This record gives sequence, structure tokens and C-alpha cells, in this order.
Amino acid sequence: MNAKKEAEDRVIRHHTPITEKEGAKRWVVPKGYLYLLEDTCKGCGFCYTFCPKEVLAQAEHFNAKGYHPPEVVDVDACVMCRFCEAVCPEFAIWLEEKEEDHG
Ligand code: SF4
Ligand code: SF4
Repeated sequence: MNAKKEAEDRVIRHHTPITEKEGAKRWVVPKGYLYLLEDTCKGCGFCYTFCPKEVLAQAEHFNAKGYHPPEVVDVDACVMCRFCEAVCPEFAIWLEEKEEDHG
């Protein structure tokens, strides 16, 4: 990865998530991207309960359905184990691997 891309990723990683398609929030994690459809979340807490690296926590704010969604509190700690994705009953959170940088 070149230095410019690395710098851009770091900026994204440590700021408000950028909005992607269909309202999903996206964060840059070390190995790829973490997506969250915040208003799809039912607030069950499985994702942050099962995350082995404490990347996620319960947010204080409410989503459109009146539930507390997860929030990303330690984005650099994500190891892309996909436990959060596997346990979410609403398919509201998922990971994508980073595309190879061919530039
Ligand atoms: S992929 Fe694993 S480490 Fe990353 S947020 Fe989900 S459960 Fe946590
Ligand atoms: S597992 Fe899914 S539905 Fe449950 S709190 Fe996390 S994002 Fe929301």
C-alpha cells in the first residue's frame, strides 16, 4: 500500500464513518471495512458481547427504531474474525476484506 493511501485510510479510520450505499456506515479496519446498517439494528447486543477485541460497544444514542445500536470504539483492534457478522440476527453488521491496492 502506498503512503498516500495509508494516510487516507488513517483519516477515515479515526473520524466519523463515511456513509455508503443504503445508509450503511463504514469504517476502515486494519484488514478491510466494517459496515453497519444502524437503523436495521434491533439492539440485541450480540455483536458487542461476542466481539473478542472490544471493538464494539453499545452506543448511547437511539436508532430510528428506538434501539441502542453498536458503535465502534476501537477500530484498530478489529481482527476481522466476523463473529459480529455471524451472530447478528438482523444482518445489520458485516465485514468486507480490503481490495488489493494495485496502484
Ligand atoms: S470482526 Fe471480530 S474483531 Fe472485528 S468487530 Fe467483528 S467481532 Fe469484533
Ligand atoms: S447483533 Fe445486530 S441487531 Fe444485535 S445489536 Fe448488534 S447490530 Fe444490532
